Amino acid sequence: MKTIGLLGGMSWESTAEYYRLLNQLTRERRGGLHSAKCVLYSVDFAEIEQLQVAGRWDEAAQVLAEAAGSLEAAGAEMLLLCTNTMHKVADQVAASVGIPLLHLADTTADAVRADGLRRVGLLGTAFTMEQDFYRGRLESRGLDVLVPDATGRGTVHRVIYDELCRGIVREESRQAYTAVIRDLVAAGAEGIVLGCTEIELLIQPQDSPVPVFPTTRLHAEAAVSRALSDGR
Ligand code: GLU
Repeated sequence: MKTIGLLGGMSWESTAEYYRLLNQLTRERRGGLHSAKCVLYSVDFAEIEQLQVAGRWDEAAQVLAEAAGSLEAAGAEMLLLCTNTMHKVADQVAASVGIPLLHLADTTADAVRADGLRRVGLLGTAFTMEQDFYRGRLESRGLDVLVPDATGRGTVHRVIYDELCRGIVREESRQAYTAVIRDLVAAGAEGIVLGCTEIELLIQPQDSPVPVFPTTRLHAEAAVSRALSDGR
């Protein structure tokens, strides 16, 4: 079994979910008392969020690259960057270590294609919905990507930072997300990518008329498959 390195804390609400899923999936596949071998480096999200807002992405990349180096030194054999948004600097982080980074957009796109879908709606932070680093990566793997209109993007972004990353799950926000999802489906989305690692704390399959793709779960599944692929 390979050791999984988690670069988390962005936010810790979803990192806790990663930890639970890695262990649960390992037990489901291996049985008995088996659990995931993993190491976690958890950052102070307030520092990262300030760098995001200020557009100081190179500095954020530096912080994450150093953390990734610590994970490698601690024995990690693969790296999970536990946030869709910070995949904006995934290349810099990956270049700083000798272990493979399992890219969240790739594990997501692979799951969508495996379900035979092509046109998806993307929910995430404004960075993820509006910039090219994530959408472009999904498109390069054969997907058509729709995003909400400006009002919808504002709602989705605000709920992530003001509520979900602070552990707040509100019914009103679930309904607001459901309305955004319905608009995307009306515009042709065949599936909805929950492209922020906290969204699956709010939205479940029954909240959408089309399949949802929970990126945290899909990332954890891909990591466990890879960790167990050596058969040991
Ligand atoms: N966890 C979120 C994501 O997957 C947002 C927090 C962040 O900005 O890293 O994008």
